[in-house]
Amino acid sequence: MKKFKWIITVTGGLLLLFVVLTLFNTFTVDSKQPSPDSTTIKINKQAAVSRFSKAITFQTISYKDRSKFDLETFQLFIDYLKESYPAVHSNLELEKVNDYALIYKWKGTNPSKKPIGLTAHYDVVPVIEGTEDNWQQKPFSGNVVEGNIWGRGTLDDKIGVIGILEATEYLINNGYSPSRDVYLMFGHDEEIGGLEGASAIVDTLKERGVTFAFVLDEGGAIVENMVPGVKKPVGVVGISEKGSATAELTIKGSGGHSSQPKDETNIGRLSAAIAKLEDRQFDADLKGPGEDLFEFVAPEMSFGMKYVFANKVIFEPIIEKILLQKPASAALIRTTIAPTIFNAGEQYNALPEEATAVINFRLMPGETLKGVKKFIRNTIDDNAIQITIEGIEASGVSETNNWQFKSIQQAARNVYENAVIAPYLMFAGSDAKHYDAISENTYRFSPVQITAEDLKRMHGTDEHISEENYINAIKFYAEVMKEANRK
Ligand SMILES: [Zn+2]
Repeated sequence: MKKFKWIITVTGGLLLLFVVLTLFNTFTVDSKQPSPDSTTIKINKQAAVSRFSKAITFQTISYKDRSKFDLETFQLFIDYLKESYPAVHSNLELEKVNDYALIYKWKGTNPSKKPIGLTAHYDVVPVIEGTEDNWQQKPFSGNVVEGNIWGRGTLDDKIGVIGILEATEYLINNGYSPSRDVYLMFGHDEEIGGLEGASAIVDTLKERGVTFAFVLDEGGAIVENMVPGVKKPVGVVGISEKGSATAELTIKGSGGHSSQPKDETNIGRLSAAIAKLEDRQFDADLKGPGEDLFEFVAPEMSFGMKYVFANKVIFEPIIEKILLQKPASAALIRTTIAPTIFNAGEQYNALPEEATAVINFRLMPGETLKGVKKFIRNTIDDNAIQITIEGIEASGVSETNNWQFKSIQQAARNVYENAVIAPYLMFAGSDAKHYDAISENTYRFSPVQITAEDLKRMHGTDEHISEENYINAIKFYAEVMKEANRK
């Protein structure tokens, strides 16, 4: 009896200690959001909107086939920038790379400080043929209707180019000069990989030995209801990009008539290989940018979620299980496997001599193409299947505990006072990856507050942005230049 009582006392004591400790953790998580220093920037809305509206009318479309580029229009767009932003063009040096990629250099007063770079792209994706009439406003009209500016590029990414130029023009006209060199870099082929634009800009600057304290590109936006348990809008700043690898699996062998098949056919074996991959999956691990995201949003969560995330060490297996339930959050914590093409067979009564499958993998930072190939080989355990793999490695991971990230966070808070600004992992590719080669840190953030619906319109129908968002984007770019030059 005595022994039993003793066990109860100890267990009860441990439980109490557990509760006290975990509650302590929960109540002592400090917010990672700086208090806003409300922006005082005043933009002449009408003039700024009309310049943006006109910028949309230039059909600077990127095609996979470069010969289809209408380069005259690209030149007209460059001319338009010159006539619209006179202060920028008389105070900054402009250099063209491959004729259409633009580098503007704004000389700082303190040459011992490292430069910063703001980048965006002015090419846009084509409007899919046959969908033009589905648009509420013509895709290259730049129409302004009931507080919204319409057209291809309003979100992706002329808002970046025009927003940055508007901000710079404003700062110059208000007597501001930066302490660091500020580079504005605009690519003209981001939508097809950025090789002649961003990548060539990087090569040019690399040769000159220019390295940046940070480069800021388009990326995550401010969205409501994105993170469970957080009521405030959350603005996510990409600190890394997943890699993308395409593997082709091929099996060749004798075909034959379907009336007398062998026990193992090419289709059967290849299907089994894919099933094994889906069955096994890559390990999920809440670390890196995914973990950073939750560290930044946890303090802003409702009690239940905050309790779980504040005690991540204990609840990690549960958190991972929850995140794995939805594809969007699963992609945050593991390398994903997506079979996208399967080719085999032509005739109902003939066994195909060959079967091929294409699988797209999105790689977590730290994973490599080589590692993925090894994973496939070990998992499928079938040496008759050939594997080839190609693609882009995951990018590096930028810091969050430095003045660079804090400048971006502060600038965003100065404009969007109510938003929680947090780092995250980008699934989509952008020009930013090219800048890793010459920048200590690369961040990906689009300073607009939009909905999940708006995100779909980016490469689809009815792309538009509110005037308010556009003005806020200008304010953000001005704020970020000021914040970074204070450091
Ligand atoms: Zn873009």
